[in-house]
Amino acid sequence: MTTKVAVPINASDVQGVLGQVDLALRAGADVLEWRSDYLEGVTAELAAQVIGQILARLDANAELLVTCRDALEGGAMSLDLTVRVAVLIEAVACGVQYIDLEYVNYSKPHVRQVIDQALTEAPTCRLILSAHNFQRPFEDISALYRAMHQTNPRAIAKLVYAPRHINDCFEALDVLHEAQADVIALCMDEAGWMSRILAPKLGGFLTFASVNSAGATAPGQLTVEQYKALYCPDTMDRHTEVYGILADPVGHSMSPAIHNACFAQLGLNKRYLPCLVSGDLRHLTEFLDNLCARPWLNVRGFSVTIPHKVSALEYTQARGGYIEPLAQKIGAVNTLVFDAQTGRPSAYNTDYAGAMDAICQTLGMDRCDMAGQRVAVVGAGGVSRAIVAGLADVGADVCIYNRTVEKARALAEAFACEYAGLDALDRLQATLLVNGTSLGMSPHIETLPVPESVLTANMAVFDTVYNPLQTRLLKTAQAKGSAVVDGLAMFVGQAMAQFKLFTGQGGDPDLMREVVMTQLGRG
Ligand code: NAP
Repeated sequence: MTTKVAVPINASDVQGVLGQVDLALRAGADVLEWRSDYLEGVTAELAAQVIGQILARLDANAELLVTCRDALEGGAMSLDLTVRVAVLIEAVACGVQYIDLEYVNYSKPHVRQVIDQALTEAPTCRLILSAHNFQRPFEDISALYRAMHQTNPRAIAKLVYAPRHINDCFEALDVLHEAQADVIALCMDEAGWMSRILAPKLGGFLTFASVNSAGATAPGQLTVEQYKALYCPDTMDRHTEVYGILADPVGHSMSPAIHNACFAQLGLNKRYLPCLVSGDLRHLTEFLDNLCARPWLNVRGFSVTIPHKVSALEYTQARGGYIEPLAQKIGAVNTLVFDAQTGRPSAYNTDYAGAMDAICQTLGMDRCDMAGQRVAVVGAGGVSRAIVAGLADVGADVCIYNRTVEKARALAEAFACEYAGLDALDRLQATLLVNGTSLGMSPHIETLPVPESVLTANMAVFDTVYNPLQTRLLKTAQAKGSAVVDGLAMFVGQAMAQFKLFTGQGGDPDLMREVVMTQLGRG
């Protein structure tokens, strides 16, 4: 069975409802969930008219679910139970494919009697029995699921709750995995993305996406169009291998778009998810251990970014995994790969490889050509550390300049380089200048990280900032005749190296670059 993608229709007037229906159908919704509780002055009679108009617009591929939600479980307004039940009975009579009623209300004998009666007369209509917790996970979701299933084994149980952390999602995934009958189990908000995106892999009956970005109820929430394009739910199955990015925040990340586009291009049954992992090493460890304890999730690898690059290395150490020697020396990793047989993690840092590839490819040289070259690196943060490690590893002659001189000194000592404060920048001499600071990044795009006077035609310039792509530093250097390397080349380089670790195959750098450009244009 393929998981259906449902799109809620929640306008307050009939015109709005029909407009949303048309949009959702054009975007490829499988099921329209008409939230009749949003319609001003809804009655059973008005609902019947609206349902008739919606059904007239549906083709054979789309289905209609009618909900009239109790305000106690997230309904838009306080409507009497009698009115809400009458709407649902009318919906059944109109020939809709599904109605949704709260389990707690269905458990009232007089409600159950009339709903069961209506469904007996329309055997093609199915009941979704739902339970919601907008504050936290259910006390015992398995027991609740069993009770719902026993109450009406023909019904589709729907359990939706707010996770306090991504680690709260696993109980929803377990319900999906273990259920022998049609079930929907979803977690809300960004921390719950995993449950919504992976529903097709785990056999969930439905998952939800919004009609358009204006209709999104959480930051960065996927629209049905994005969900279908990015995650290809129709071809996900239980063998689908899972990858993702571990980050906080994660909503802005371009990595899911890049990696999923490359997986799709090669026809690989792999999906890459944004994972909002808040907290520290303890939370990260709990998350990764939870994943590893569930081999049926087929988790194979992760990109790792702020704030987990050091914790991911410590996790790999604690689990006895392999750590790439230079990543160990850098003290941070940005890639984890899990062995399919043993589940053991391996940790890598592709930031340095991405930076070295970006420099060498753009300047038309090999890594060994960097030996003995004089390089000035401005910045001593995480990105600069990876670049300095890569440069020192190939024997470049590096000097680090940083606002906080103490950080420059510590980094220089770790990789046997020179260091100085930013006041020494006006005397710098180098064949390559690297900006590893955030100076020049949007919205402060007029800022230059070095005095303009030090830029000369025979000094190549690499700016790690990629938003904007053409920074003021690169434009100024180019105007003086310098060769330039942009931050996107490094970003694509590190993603290419990750893709190779994830799949054993080369990704398509042009496709990656195009995806990022599209995302940046959208932002
Ligand atoms: P980080 O660890 O926070 O380091 C930031 C660096 O910028 C530090 O050296 C900091 O100096 C310096 N800095 C910040 N504000 C400054 C200011 N007003 N004046 C002078 N120096 C300042 O950040 P990161 O992870 O290294 O990232 C740095 C930049 O790299 C990002 O902003 C991003 O544009 C770029 N980046 C590029 C890629 C890519 O693939 N191309 C990937 C990640 C990041 P102090 O030590 O004195 O604070």
